[in-house]
Amino acid sequence: MDEAPPSPLPFPTSLCHRCAAPPKYVRTKTSTFILCPLLPQKYPPQPVLRCPLFRPRPQEPEET
Ligand code: SF4
Repeated sequence: MDEAPPSPLPFPTSLCHRCAAPPKYVRTKTSTFILCPLLPQKYPPQPVLRCPLFRPRPQEPEET
């Protein structure tokens, strides 16, 4: 399954992109939705600018 962030990102200002939740990107033919695994409503109104459940995503280890 492809869970890499799409390009271009939907709602680039959304906190979700930097969240450790981690969000899933659900693509349809015309749009990309951000599915939050933590929120009961799953699809918060975007862009999410503040979120009580936000945790910064740890940096990916750099390839050497
Ligand atoms: S916890 Fe908040 S910031 Fe993180 S993916 Fe869900 S809605 Fe976005």
